[in-house]
Amino acid sequence: MAASMDNIPKDFRNLRACMLCSLVKSVDQFEDMGCENCDKYLQMKGNREQVYHCTSTRFDGIIALMQPEDSWVAKWQRLTHRLPGMYAISVSGRMPNGMIRELKSRGITYRSRDMS
Ligand SMILES: [Zn+2]
Repeated sequence: MAASMDNIPKDFRNLRACMLCSLVKSVDQFEDMGCENCDKYLQMKGNREQVYHCTSTRFDGIIALMQPEDSWVAKWQRLTHRLPGMYAISVSGRMPNGMIRELKSRGITYRSRDMS
C-alpha cells in the first residue's frame, strides 16, 4: 500500500465519501442517485448542496465490498447490510449539526467515521 499520489487517476479527485455509511462515489453520482444506503435519510438525490453537506472529499483507504453479508471486512468496518460498492475506511469531516439532529429524530445515531 505504498502507492504515491501520482498513481491515482485525476478523476479520483471528484470522488466523495458519504459521511454516514462511507460509500464512495463521484459527486455527480451522488447528485444523480443519492446514496444507495442512506438517501431516504440524507436526500442528496438532485440536491448538490446536500451532497456537499453529507459527503466529504477527505477520506482514506478504499475497500471494495462485493458481498457485504459474509465479508469479514464488512464486519470489521460495520458495513453489513450495506449495498456492494466502494467504501472508505476513514472519512474526515463532520455532518452539519442540523443533519445530525434530523438523523437522531429518526433513530439513527451518527458516528463520525473520522479516524485520523
Ligand atoms: Zn451513505
